[in-house]
Parts: sequence; structure tokens; C-alpha cells
Amino acid sequence: MKTTSCKSCGALIVWATSDTGKAMPVDVEPSEGGTIVLHGTDPNPIFRVLRKGEKYAGMLYRSHFSTCPNAARHRRQRNDGPSWMAGSDGEP
Ligand SMILES: [Zn+2]
Repeated sequence: MKTTSCKSCGALIVWATSDTGKAMPVDVEPSEGGTIVLHGTDPNPIFRVLRKGEKYAGMLYRSHFSTCPNAARHRRQRNDGPSWMAGSDGEP
């Protein structure tokens, strides 16, 4: 996976893509309380969000939107996407 740093807090994140093509920053470190499954080892892995109550035996991750200490501040921006974290990794 290709990691990058959050432009806001500096945490290591990876950009994952949903099966509908939506990009989302995900914390690189797995979390027991995570709800996101990453598939593949491409620079931008595919992510899937577990359904409520669903069990998954593998590594779980969390969206950086929910862990970034500065996310609340940035959410006020009316951007249609996480452009505040976009940067040198070529995100549009
Ligand atoms: Zn952050």
C-alpha cells in the first residue's frame, strides 16, 4: 500500500477506493474497533465497510475521517470530498 501523511495532523494514512470509485483516507495502523476492510495491496486498495454486527476475522481499519483530531475543523468546508487531505499523491 502506498502511504501518505495527513496534511492536517501528519498521521500516516492510505487512500483506499470503494467499489464505486470513491476515495477515502484510512489509518495505516489496524484497529480492533475498526469497521473497514482493505482488499489488495495496490497503491490504492479497495475498501469495504462492515455491516453492523458483521464479524470479520482479518485486520480492521478505521477511516481517518473519524480519527483525525483536526477533522471537525475541516468538515466545515463545503468541499465535495476530502480535498483537505489531498496532496502529493496525485489526488484530484
Ligand atoms: Zn489527520
